[in-house]
Amino acid sequence: MHYDYVIVGAGFAGSVLAERLATQLDKRILLIDKRSHIGGNAFDCLNEDGILIHQYGPHIFHTNSPEVYTYLSQFTQWRPYEHRVLASVDGQLLPIPINLDTVNKLYGYSFTSEQLMAYFDSVGEPVADIQTAEDVVVSQVGRDLYEKFFRGYTRKQWGVDPSQLDKMVTARIPTRINQDDRYFTDQFQCMPLHGYTKMFEKMVDHPNIQLLLGTDFKEINQQLSFDELIYTGPIDEYFDCCYGKLPYRSLRFDHQTLEVANYQPVAVVNYPNEHAYTRITEYKKLTGQEHTKTSITFEYPQDEGDPYYPIPRPENAALYRQYKQLADGQASVHFVGRLGTYRYYNMDQVVAQALTLFKKLAGIDSLQEAIKG
Ligand SMILES: Cc1cc2nc3c(=O)[nH]c(=O)nc-3n(C[C@H](O)[C@H](O)[C@H](O)COP(=O)(O)OP(=O)(O)OC[C@H]3O[C@@H](n4cnc5c(N)ncnc54)[C@H](O)[C@@H]3O)c2cc1C
Repeated sequence: MHYDYVIVGAGFAGSVLAERLATQLDKRILLIDKRSHIGGNAFDCLNEDGILIHQYGPHIFHTNSPEVYTYLSQFTQWRPYEHRVLASVDGQLLPIPINLDTVNKLYGYSFTSEQLMAYFDSVGEPVADIQTAEDVVVSQVGRDLYEKFFRGYTRKQWGVDPSQLDKMVTARIPTRINQDDRYFTDQFQCMPLHGYTKMFEKMVDHPNIQLLLGTDFKEINQQLSFDELIYTGPIDEYFDCCYGKLPYRSLRFDHQTLEVANYQPVAVVNYPNEHAYTRITEYKKLTGQEHTKTSITFEYPQDEGDPYYPIPRPENAALYRQYKQLADGQASVHFVGRLGTYRYYNMDQVVAQALTLFKKLAGIDSLQEAIKG
């Protein structure tokens, strides 16, 4: 069988492109994933107790892009959900991102927003040229809050001190002087009503899309006949790591089901300091599912294992650029997605990136036209 496109990886990047190319351009697609399921890292499933869990850690959908939201709405209904996270610090559960309540509860103050602003000004350490993740936080909220909320968490998460990491790692986390305790402020915040996997099933359910799961592209590459390749796996692996391996941070997930209906007050509680795990997720708080038991996941960051987070350090960006140069020389191979472009992207950004590639492949000018049903 000859395919117009072989797509490697059935996560957001691969599935969006398979859906668009099949439904809008009538292309014949082979969609391959080495895992036994679709959905990539956003895969969710019912566990043995019938509780919907996220196999690869909590995935919360949020976007400011009406196009991404409208596009995905063709494949799912939504459940309104605003994410809130608490951090376990000094024996209390406190809102993160740091806000007015975080500081007042932690130190026993009763600051107003104006007073908090003045407080941050007094404790923030001036940094002339903000370069690192440490600089970002210490300059904004001072050393004590940095030590209590960020340093330990970041060291666990990335395996290196924040002073060694690019500023983008902590720049993602805002600080607020009001009581807004939402983790995200995006215009659209919601969860797929019946889960991510159901949404993916609907996306790839098309006669032009053939799914091949549990198969590594490398093992069948030579036997395939196709015009173009869309590759959403790690870009360095595609080139046999000829310049060396691009470093990733991985995670071990310890999934547990407890004989209680509720475990913690919010879906995610961060543990910046005292434990080897970084956070605990309770899925029912995300999905709204009613059940007499509850399922939780502990996340333990580690170096070995599936590649989850590209490590944002300048030398890694330089190594990526070498691979990107090789990739640019391959006219009929398109690299996309978090692993294909070695970037820390959220789901909506990956969808936008995939839609942008589709626009290019289809010769379409506007995103509006690219998302039509
Ligand atoms: C713990 C965690 C929590 C996250 N939480 C959020 C969140 O709350 N909100 C948010 O927006 N984003 C979140 N993300 C990011 C989100 O997971 C990604 O943006 C999204 O999954 C990226 O989609 P993708 O298609 O690029 O990659 P992936 O989902 O990684 O899919 C790539 C697929 O390619 C397959 N593959 C790789 N190599 C091969 C090969 N050689 N042959 C065959 N198949 C191959 C892999 O098996 C994988 O299934 C989180 C990520 C992690 C790790």
